[in-house]
Amino acid sequence: MELLTIGAFSRASRLSPKALRLYDSLGLLTPAHVDEVSGYRFYRPDQLERARLVAWLRRLGMPLARIGVVCDLALDVPDRAAEQIAAYWAETEAELAARRALAAHLISYLSGEETTMPAAQPALAIRYAARSDVGRRRDRNQDTAYAGRRLLAVADGMGVGGDAASAAVIEALKPLEGALPAGNLLNAMQDAVRQADSAVRDLAAADPGTGTTLTAMLWSGSQLALVHVGDTRAYLLRAGELFQITHDHSVVQALLDEGKITPEEADSHPQRSLLLQAIDGDRAARPDVSLHDAQAGDRYLLCSDGLTAVVPAGIIRDTLSAPGDPEQAVGRLIDLANEAGGPDNIACVVADVIEPRA
Ligand code: MN
Repeated sequence: MELLTIGAFSRASRLSPKALRLYDSLGLLTPAHVDEVSGYRFYRPDQLERARLVAWLRRLGMPLARIGVVCDLALDVPDRAAEQIAAYWAETEAELAARRALAAHLISYLSGEETTMPAAQPALAIRYAARSDVGRRRDRNQDTAYAGRRLLAVADGMGVGGDAASAAVIEALKPLEGALPAGNLLNAMQDAVRQADSAVRDLAAADPGTGTTLTAMLWSGSQLALVHVGDTRAYLLRAGELFQITHDHSVVQALLDEGKITPEEADSHPQRSLLLQAIDGDRAARPDVSLHDAQAGDRYLLCSDGLTAVVPAGIIRDTLSAPGDPEQAVGRLIDLANEAGGPDNIACVVADVIEPRA
């Protein structure tokens, strides 16, 4: 295949060489070849499609980190790339609606129709509930669920010391319940995961094969920082739509991503519970991390596979959309998993983002 020079690729993609160099440095679009002597970049003609997608997503205003996720998905699972764009757009429209309301208020205030200046942006609050349940078939509960004023977390333990491991990772995160970390929220979460990792290392030394997943969120008053390892999940219910905001670190998810199995085959796959990543003290966990802007009306669900393996996403969405506080939602979800046979332990955390006086 003949390679294109950066100049030719730039003309064909209508992206400036400067933009192409930026996308390269961000890992969004890596040249097929870089000349060792001159440093010139060369591209394959089939990279044009990805270049165009990057350009359009930039035009849409999507942050660069999210563009990388969409482009990677677009290659193998375009449906999921489409979902990501839909989720981004729903967030953007909600944010725009809030700005529109603020602009309208300021305009009427300054033109004398309104006598009060808009109050300072209200801090948001969360209300929450957490529960884990043994289910109908297991005799031990190795899932742990926790919700406090800042920290939301679920962990699904495995192996002989699985119950201790899932409890230990959440204990390791609890110091975050105190004062908000002075620095970056995500760094604080990653540090806490390192603590969790070393806690589990001791347990795994005594009982090899011991480990746990972890999906946790830290609330700052306006944002939620998410860390995630394994196949526990986080979902966001916003404007009636349910978005899965974590990606399973599982063999089955990898096969799905590669298009080697269908979603139907995934549901009954014999290696459904085999994880590609867990906190097991073996390799240092590399959690996925992300930051989410909160909006009043958002509802978050953190849960273990004991829920998602037996209750379809559509039912989870309908249950979360039904009236009721987080406590009621958690109770209904656990009942649904048990009614579906309760083959595994079930952990659920539900948190609502609310106006403090509401
Ligand atoms: Mn499980």
